[in-house]
Amino acid sequence: MLEEMTWPEVGRALEQGRTTVVVAVGAVEQHGPHLPLLVDAARGDRLALEVAKRIRGALVAPTIRVGCSEHHMGFPGTITVRPHTLEAVCVDYAVSLARHGFTRICFVPSHGGNFQPLADMLPDLRAAVAPSCRVDAYTDLLGFMELWQAAVRRLAPDMIERVGGHADLAETSEMLCIRPDLVRQDRAEVGHVQPFDEELKDRIFREGFRTVTPNGILGDARGATREIGEACIASAADGIVTALGG
Ligand SMILES: [Zn+2]
Repeated sequence: MLEEMTWPEVGRALEQGRTTVVVAVGAVEQHGPHLPLLVDAARGDRLALEVAKRIRGALVAPTIRVGCSEHHMGFPGTITVRPHTLEAVCVDYAVSLARHGFTRICFVPSHGGNFQPLADMLPDLRAAVAPSCRVDAYTDLLGFMELWQAAVRRLAPDMIERVGGHADLAETSEMLCIRPDLVRQDRAEVGHVQPFDEELKDRIFREGFRTVTPNGILGDARGATREIGEACIASAADGIVTALGG
């Protein structure tokens, strides 16, 4: 965890060849009536750690906590940054890390609204650092959903349709592992249930979440368990590391 280290420790890590760093890109936005706004920021902390564990010697940079959440602004409390604001922050992260000698920077979104902005900014991120530094980003939102579905299909196949993509069975289960103190499980309920596909993806970004799901849930939050949560976290980390090329 880069921000928990001292500067001599970071210097030594770099000298020892630990030159890969993982950056989660999260959000502070509504997550239904049962989960707090910090879900994607907290999940980002954990996801980045799990991805880093699977890439030998990788460090974890501080999560970018606020992301592109315009489509959640219909709900009180959501904070959003514009895509060019997020890009400016990501470019400055990459340039800072590259200046210290990191040679591989992996951006990992833990929030659906950051996937497309990251894909769009990737050429600019790469151009901002020296060619000796490789910048990658995981940008496959539908692929990410499949990683959650794979975990739930294995552990609780009868609840597979509850994985809807937001504040659902998977995300609620992950939060039972990460911040159980903040999960209001008695308020977990069903939301808009529909497989997360291209059509639904376009609709939520075009119309906003609130017209699609009045309570803010895509899928169904009921039935969450820590076991499902750990499986979803591991499946996501495994799939992302594979997609990033190990
Ligand atoms: Zn989320």
